[in-house]
Amino acid sequence: MSNKRFSLALHGGAGSAPGHDYGVEVAHMRGLVEAARDRLAAGANALDVAVETVVALEASGLYIAGRGASPNASGIYELDACLMDGASGRAGSVAALQGFESPILAARAVMERTPHVMLAGEGAAAFARTQGLKTIADPATWFTHAGAFEANHPPDLPTGTVGCVVRDGEGRLAAATSTAGVFGKLPGRVGDSPIIGAGAWADGQAAVSCTGQGEYFIRTAVAVQVAHRMRFGGESLASATAAAIQGVAGLGGDGGLIAVDREGHVAMPFASDGLKRAALFPDGTIMAEAF
Ligand code: ASP
Repeated sequence: MSNKRFSLALHGGAGSAPGHDYGVEVAHMRGLVEAARDRLAAGANALDVAVETVVALEASGLYIAGRGASPNASGIYELDACLMDGASGRAGSVAALQGFESPILAARAVMERTPHVMLAGEGAAAFARTQGLKTIADPATWFTHAGAFEANHPPDLPTGTVGCVVRDGEGRLAAATSTAGVFGKLPGRVGDSPIIGAGAWADGQAAVSCTGQGEYFIRTAVAVQVAHRMRFGGESLASATAAAIQGVAGLGGDGGLIAVDREGHVAMPFASDGLKRAALFPDGTIMAEAF
């Protein structure tokens, strides 16, 4: 067991359903943080823990990503994901991927088994097939919310996403994000979640995963903005993340993010009507909440 300190944060998306009791999600997120803590204590690296956590978030069907995804305006499930390894600077991404259980595993395969960073649409699916990734036989029975989004989804880009950021015992940072995007999106619409620097970023400074109205997160390059504020402006993680979220709000968007820095600090600011989030702090304290 490593004695070195580590920390992490995860999110289950910005935005909340009024009156919904999030007790199940909070217990689930806490369990994932505990599992990630045990993996880190045993010496697992940041990238593996971030990916494993996002795979579990996707598979739960509790959040608007992976099995819990919402369809686009044509009733088709097009999912986005990306990840970045701060230690190596490598990144992988899939956009508008159809037919696979875990978009984050497809993104990892792009990073590790192609010379590319991002694959989209048909090409992404064709590649995922060659990697033996698990396919979805029947979307109507696979997706836990199938049918629930058809009638009257709320206006103004309502959202849901999952993500995880990790600082491991060796000081390595990693970030991973996976989403179905915004409800009722146009076919082919791609948000921030698979865009390196917008929906996720990790380098030697910070690891960031975002959630919210992706159009605004792309326009303000939120994830890399946080790291660059720290690197080039000397800001703290708390100050850099707060400023980046204020930039989104200043344009009229909403959302939040989770971040860790190389010292293990954790920040989870948001400017939205809710955020499902959990964290392990360097002193071993765990928090999990949703509202
Ligand atoms: N940011 C995601 C997107 O715009 C949605 C979300 O975070 O809920 O695709």
